[in-house]
Parts: sequence; structure tokens; C-alpha cells
Amino acid sequence: MTQLSRSLPQAPESEAEEKGAAAAAARPIAPPIATDHRDLRDGAFWQVIPSFADIDEATFLDHKWQMKNTITKPEKLLAAVKGLASDEFLADAAEGFRIAPMAVRVSPYMLSLIDWTNPYEDPIRRQFIPTNSTRLADHPKLTFDSLGEQADAPVDGLTHRYPDKALLLALDTCPVYCRFCTRSYAVGPDQEMIEKVSLKASPKRWDAIFAYVARRPELEDIVISGGDAWNLRAKQIETLGHRLLDIPHVRRMRFASKGPAVMPQKALTDDEWFNALVGVVKRGRELGKDVMIHTHFNHPNEITEITRAAMQRFFAEGVHLRNQTVLQRGVNDDAETMVRLVRRCAYVNVHPYYVYQHDLVKGVEELRTTVGSAKDLEKLVRGSTAGFNTPTFVVDAPGGGGKRGVHSHEHYNPVTGISVYTAPSVKPGKSFLYFDPVDQLPEEGQARWANEGEHSKMIDEALAAAG
Ligand SMILES: *Cc1c(COP(=O)(O)O)cnc(C)c1O
Ligand code: SF4
Repeated sequence: MTQLSRSLPQAPESEAEEKGAAAAAARPIAPPIATDHRDLRDGAFWQVIPSFADIDEATFLDHKWQMKNTITKPEKLLAAVKGLASDEFLADAAEGFRIAPMAVRVSPYMLSLIDWTNPYEDPIRRQFIPTNSTRLADHPKLTFDSLGEQADAPVDGLTHRYPDKALLLALDTCPVYCRFCTRSYAVGPDQEMIEKVSLKASPKRWDAIFAYVARRPELEDIVISGGDAWNLRAKQIETLGHRLLDIPHVRRMRFASKGPAVMPQKALTDDEWFNALVGVVKRGRELGKDVMIHTHFNHPNEITEITRAAMQRFFAEGVHLRNQTVLQRGVNDDAETMVRLVRRCAYVNVHPYYVYQHDLVKGVEELRTTVGSAKDLEKLVRGSTAGFNTPTFVVDAPGGGGKRGVHSHEHYNPVTGISVYTAPSVKPGKSFLYFDPVDQLPEEGQARWANEGEHSKMIDEALAAAG
């Protein structure tokens, strides 16, 4: 065990456990489950990366070191794992980066958790490092901001789509950049082919947001996202948090962050930042207002002993955490992985909240799954653990319908891969379409999408069938 795990108390073995087991053996019981969700990765795993071979635990846990050594150039990233990954893979990834719409940003922590001897299969590699050979054509119906977040934004960086809650995009940077980011229309630096919407962390832009929230008394719930709260300075966390708490009708706030999944070190060693966030949560509690953190774990491998220590630091301060996962092909779309993720989140006191059907995003068609397979997966996950730790599987309906339960479509044709959703509480009278990835459809469906003349016919059929 490392210093880190020794310093944290473990639950004592209980006698009652033995007695209970003896009693349970006497009658039919639920089948035993795998308990490997408790086996968190520990030890100096990062030292397999040649340039981290001499990095000790204290350095690796230092958030400044993590930030400073975060890789933002494809050449550097590939050089860091040269000799670990095959030359064939490295060439494939170099070409993948060249044509990708999203910028590169990979933390040392993420880099170290990837199995470089098998990078094609690795679930973390798939999320951050594109390969050219696996690329599929985008769906013909893909549009840039597929969720229509900008259309529902009364001021820059505030999407007010639902009656009593709004999404505040505080900034446009993140500790890492995910290939599959829905917000690639704004997040990260401009790419060769794409000029992005600017959502910088500017006081003037924030003032306009606070003013809007203040004059809409129905807004009780603010999601602070981005970009990513992990990249806000302590002072900025305080400004955002306290200005929003000052608005009487704001009752609930969530800081949404990929940070716990990709750089948990910050919660352990950036005390100023940690205390700023905890300060907002505690003042909220005194005011009767609920402030939480929403995390974004997609695979059980992202949760290590370091994560457990970081989440425990929040938990011990009374900060609650919920997780949102993006369902991705070859990452977490099998029941064994998803159940392990759900149990492992619960094990570190992070409540699984949502599993999102992958949005229609440029350049990542290979990561999307069908609505049918999401429904099957949901069936296998539900019942595997406590109900309050069971995520809801949702589709964020393209075109601004908002989140809908994946099962709740008005119509679904697994051949064309078109599902039709309605959102009576958000946009009454409108229908919203989600499109499965074409390569996952039966041959008949693939043939129809290959023929442009069929596209509007398929859509009309789906809308007619939905009634
Ligand atoms: C997801 C989202 C929210 C929050 O929705 P919940 O279902 O409460 O988690 C709010 N506004 C927008 C625009 C969103 O996309
Ligand atoms: S951390 Fe979130 S906002 Fe940032 S790139 Fe990843 S998915 Fe997008």
C-alpha cells in the first residue's frame, strides 16, 4: 500500500458479516456478485511512462505538477509513449489528431491510466486520443451545436431551456479535452477547420448572466459548467458561487466537472481552491441552499485510490457528489463495465445520476451506440444495486428538447435508427429526433441512409408513426 491509502482509515471487518453469511447460506440467496469494483488501482502506476519513471507520489499528487505536465500537443503526447505503444498505433493516432475537430489536452494522470500495450481497446485512450483507422463518417443529420444550446441562450453562456433551471457556461477551458465533447462548438481553442463561439471567463459576461438570473424568479437551479469548474481560480469559484447564492430565488447549484475523473489531485493538494468550493457549499447550507458537485466518470478505470481519497475529502466536508456518464461504444456499453462503474462510483460516495446517450458530435461516430442497445443496457443495470445509485438513461434530444428517458420515445425504428421524442414540459407540441449511428444498423437501414433521396422519407415515416 502507498502512503496515500495508509493514511486513510479503512472500515473494520465486522463480526456481524460472518454471522449474516452463515444465516444466508441456510436459505436461497441472491447470486454472489463480483466485488472487483472495490479493487482500486494503487501504487506508483504512472512510473510505467518513461518520463514519469522518477516521479514520486508527492509530486504526482501535486496539482501544479499535473497542470504543468498536461500535454497539449499531439507530437508531445505520442513522444511520451514512444516505445510503449506500437509504431503502427502512433502513426494512426498522429493522423487521427490531424483531422480531429477537438484540441488535445491529456493530463499525466489520464496518460498513465491508459494501457499502452493495448491502446486500441483501452477505454480511456478511446475517449481522448483519436485514431484515423477507426474513424467513421459523421451521421448525415449531424449539426454543429446539435443540442441547440445557443438557440436557447438569452445571454451569452446561459442556456435557459427548462422552466426552473438553467445552464451557466462559466468558461471555455477544461483540464482535459474529450474527443466526444458536446460543447466542442465553444470549448477549447479554435481548430483548423472550426472557429468557436467565445465563452471566456469574463466578469462582464458573468455580470450579464447574474442580472438575467436575478430577474427570472422562476430560476431555482443553476448548473455551472463550461468548460470546467476545475479550471476556475479560487476567487472565481467564490464570485460565481456567492453571487448566485445572493440571489434569493436560487435554491440549488451544481458545479459540473470532469476534474474528479481526470485530475483528482487538485482536490487533494489545491487547498485554496478546495476551501473556496467548500466555503460556497457551507454558506449555501446555512442559507438552506443545496450546492453539489457533478462529476463525469465514464469508466471504472478512471476511479483509483487517488480518486477515493479526493472524493473522501469532499465527503468528509459534507459536499455531495453525483455522476454523469456518456455512453460510449467500446468504452462502457457492456453491462459488466457499466455495473462496475456504477458500483465503483457508489463505493467512493458518488451517486450515479445520468447515463447519456452519446450526442451527435463531429468526428466521433465510432463512439456512438444505438437507442436500442442503450435500452437493453439499462435493463441489465437496473436492479444490480440500490435504486438511488442507479443512473437514469437519457437522450438529450437534438434540437433542444432536453433530456428524455431513453425508453420514452413515441416511436423507434431500429432499422432506420430514428427515434422520436416529445418534451411536453419543455417544448410542447414539438417532436425531436435522435439518429442511431448508421454503421450499427441492419443492412436495409444502411442502404437507405446511403441514398440521399430516402432521408426525408425515413424521417416522415418516423414522424407519422409517432402520430
Ligand atoms: C442538463 C441540463 C440542465 C440540468 O438538467 P437536470 O435534468 O436537472 O440534470 C439544465 N439546463 C440545460 C440546458 C441542460 O442541458
Ligand atoms: S471536460 Fe466536459 S466540457 Fe470539457 S471537453 Fe470534456 S466533455 Fe467537454
